[in-house]
Amino acid sequence: MIHASAAIAVAHDVEALRATVKQWRDAGDKVALIPTMGALHEGHASLVRQGQHEARRTIVSIFVNPTQFAPTEDFAAYPRTFETDCAMLAAIGADLVYAPTAAVMYPPAFSSTVSVGGPATVGLEDAFRPQFFTGVATIVAKLLIQSTPDVALFGQKDYQQLQVIRHMVRDLDLPVTIMGAETIREPDGLAMSSRNRYLSETERKTAAFIPAALRDCAAALRDGSAPAPTLSEARARLDRAGFVLDYLELRDAETLAPIAALSGQPARLLVAAKIGTTRLIDNWAV
Ligand code: AMP
Repeated sequence: MIHASAAIAVAHDVEALRATVKQWRDAGDKVALIPTMGALHEGHASLVRQGQHEARRTIVSIFVNPTQFAPTEDFAAYPRTFETDCAMLAAIGADLVYAPTAAVMYPPAFSSTVSVGGPATVGLEDAFRPQFFTGVATIVAKLLIQSTPDVALFGQKDYQQLQVIRHMVRDLDLPVTIMGAETIREPDGLAMSSRNRYLSETERKTAAFIPAALRDCAAALRDGSAPAPTLSEARARLDRAGFVLDYLELRDAETLAPIAALSGQPARLLVAAKIGTTRLIDNWAV
């Protein structure tokens, strides 16, 4: 069943989604999918605009996926702002919101998951959120199979996730082009995130130390500083600012394998840190 919310069509189940996509396909239109968990911000908006550039039709999925959260994580508290999200997507001119229920995505006796290796097992997010990438890969695979887009867009903000999805799509021959989009940031450099709304005013100010540390660390590495002491200094800086660091690491930009020295290959700094109870992640090209 399709209904209209704040001037945009919303599909809540696979049948409605597929019926709409079929109409578009019959008309010869290309389709872009932007998977999200809602609580939309300018980062999501930029993905939609890029999708509109790639395809005549854009679908934004909004689903807070329970299987990528550990029981100790913020699934229940995750912000849900569906009506505002729909209004924003209508204003941008997206064509369809796909908002399946948990029962649609995980019907009774659901028992099949996508197991991911390679960049999903390099000891970054996977070391701190062991359930995360199986949950992400399974839900993204389902969304891709349900909506059969030509293109699907993901943010570099979740850099390891983007690499995991690229690998999954390649390994499973899913017929879709994955595009990675630049991270949209606040004026002080903080990467936009639905979780930023958890931050107190003081924490919000402190949060800008993350992009500052990444930027300075990347600049020092480019200028030839040795990685080990440069990374230690950046870690100490975040520690002094009050963060509890999960990791700050220099990795090969594609495989995400650890690199001890730069030798001209694309590299990436990746960080995850807690401020208070909020966990933030970010990354920076070197
Ligand atoms: P989320 O709703 O947090 O699961 O994110 C949905 C998509 O938006 C993912 O592909 C994210 O990487 C992407 N995204 C989140 N924040 C940003 C940002 N600040 N800039 C660009 N893309 C983002």
